Amino acid sequence: MSPLLSPLLEVKGNIELKRPRIKAPSRLPLSGSRLKRRPDQMEDGLEPEKKRTRGLGATTKITTSHPRVPSLTTVPQTQGQTTAQKVSKKTGPRCSTAIATGLKNQKPVPAVPVQKPGTSAVPPMAGGKKPSKRPAWDLKGQLCDLNAELKRCRERTQTLDQENQQLQDQLRDAQQQAKALGTERRTLEGHLAKVQAQAEQGQQELKNLRACVLELEERLSTQEGLVQELQKKQVELQEERRGLTSQLEEKERRLQTSEAALSSSRAEVASLWQETAAQAALLAEREERLHGLEMERRRLHNQLQELKGNIRVFCRVRPVLPGEPTPPPGLLLFPSGPGGPSDPPTRLSLSRSDERRGTLSGAPAPPTRHDFSFDRVFPPGSGQDEVFEEIAMLVQSALDGYPVCIFAYGQTGSGKTFTMEGGPGGDPQLEGLIPRALRHLFSVAQELSGQGWTYSFVASYVEIYNETVRDLLATGTRKGQGGECEIRRAGPGSEELTVTNARYVPVSCEKEVEALLHLARQNRAVARTAQNERSSRSHSVFQLQISGEHSSRGLQCGASLSLVDLAGSERLDPGLALGPGERERLRETQAINSSLSTLGLVIMALSNKESHVPYRNSKLTYLLQNSLGGSAKMLMFVNISPLEENVSESLNSLRFASKVRLPPINPRPCQDPWVLVGFSIPIPSVF
Ligand code: ADP
Ligand code: MG
Repeated sequence: MSPLLSPLLEVKGNIELKRPRIKAPSRLPLSGSRLKRRPDQMEDGLEPEKKRTRGLGATTKITTSHPRVPSLTTVPQTQGQTTAQKVSKKTGPRCSTAIATGLKNQKPVPAVPVQKPGTSAVPPMAGGKKPSKRPAWDLKGQLCDLNAELKRCRERTQTLDQENQQLQDQLRDAQQQAKALGTERRTLEGHLAKVQAQAEQGQQELKNLRACVLELEERLSTQEGLVQELQKKQVELQEERRGLTSQLEEKERRLQTSEAALSSSRAEVASLWQETAAQAALLAEREERLHGLEMERRRLHNQLQELKGNIRVFCRVRPVLPGEPTPPPGLLLFPSGPGGPSDPPTRLSLSRSDERRGTLSGAPAPPTRHDFSFDRVFPPGSGQDEVFEEIAMLVQSALDGYPVCIFAYGQTGSGKTFTMEGGPGGDPQLEGLIPRALRHLFSVAQELSGQGWTYSFVASYVEIYNETVRDLLATGTRKGQGGECEIRRAGPGSEELTVTNARYVPVSCEKEVEALLHLARQNRAVARTAQNERSSRSHSVFQLQISGEHSSRGLQCGASLSLVDLAGSERLDPGLALGPGERERLRETQAINSSLSTLGLVIMALSNKESHVPYRNSKLTYLLQNSLGGSAKMLMFVNISPLEENVSESLNSLRFASKVRLPPINPRPCQDPWVLVGFSIPIPSVF
């Protein structure tokens, strides 16, 4: 601020210097009093302001325009005052100052003594006495006085002229000075304006700066508050940091321990990897061997089955049911095999007494004994599990890719349905071949999945009544209705057969199979109400399409397992009168007999390797043709009633079964049922 203020101070000083000069008229020189003064006197006469100006080092030297005049008592007050006032009025305050340079050229004016008016220039009278007033009569004296006074007046006039001249000179000087001072004033006013503007600007800046300072102070206080808060937080954070540091140290210690454990584990893992790689190689080798063995097993298994016979017949005799008459002893006999009683029975003897035959003595002829030999005979006490055990190997063949077909043949009530589906009440012990076979298949398929085989199963269940096919798995509006299904080829050129409008249901567990059997029973029950005991007059065909795949080796196999509960094989009594009901029954029976005899013919044609197999002669053989020929395995259960009243039908059944069961002459070498599906066997990759 000081540089800004310095010109202001300078002007201020000048203004202050001028101020006393306004009062200068009192110091104006009186007439004839302008005396030249010595420099020292001039210096002494300078006002303090002038000294101060010098002291400030101002460039413009200002001094008083007149020397200090000693007070003259002789100057008349009125005249002196008037003159001074006049001069003062004309020149103004500026006349009281003179620029030093102007004064240098001024001529000194001699001091003129000023007489008070009324005082005489005549020297005072000797003795110091005042001249007394002349008496009126002293005209001469008065004249003399008047002359003297005139003389004084003339002198006075002369003096005044001189003084006037001086004053005019002074006035000119003063006017010049005034002009110079006016110029200087304007300059100074300009300066002053600038300085004032600067001052105002400075003030404004100062104001702004103050506002800034206030704002900054406010911010400072806010910042101080923040700083305090931050300091508090810092303290807290430092505390937390200390805690975390200790935790970190603890964790680092643990980490080090873990790292040590990890490195040892890594070494262990590396050795385990090596071991695993060796094991994997071994495993791959073993898998390869296992696969080879599995394929070998399948071939051998098939050979075994073929040696046993591609067409086998088992005979099962049901027990006598509660309420049924006990058969006479020896009606049915089960002779032991060549290995003794420990051998499973394969033979059965049925004794029949013929009342028409008689002896010469008239006594009844002894009963005729009929011996039969089968692949296996199950006496009445044989359980469901025992029966299944015997066919489990055959069911296995279906998984290996060979079609398998199991029939239950016999008169109504001989136990066909019991053998196939099981007994009533859902007793697991009484479960039939269908649920047991499927459970076995699911379980073996699960085991084979460990060797890379994946199996899928699709079930269907139809009945053939009077050469019409009906879906036993029908649901909804189709439930209980028949005659809409047809047996067709799956596609043009395809060997596969399918039943139109029949449901093919994928199954993967026992529960699903149980549900299907339950549904089939319901459908049969609905039909039973419409037609009397139709179930016994129709063939029920449960089929399971089995598909296996070994994806890593590109192998596929597929086969079907058919479980057929045949219609009752009993004949119609020829002695019965043929009413309308019987005629219908006769038609049914003829249809059944026709289809059963066709089945017998087909089986025999297959056994004899005849060129023509009459599959198309019945719906049943047509539907089953893919499950009967070639490498297919067939098993027929002949179900026998133990009752004496059924001996005739039992004998018929046994005779039929014996015809079917022809011993295999030479087992045919058959082709492997699994096919390679277009790509090489990949090397198993373990890692
Ligand atoms: P089909 O189907 O041949 O007409 P079923 O299977 O209906 O004969 O059997 C008739 C009756 O005999 C049923 O009540 C059944 O429970 C019973 N049954 C058949 N076989 C046996 C057996 N092995 N053990 C016990 N009961 C049997
Ligand atoms: Mg039945």
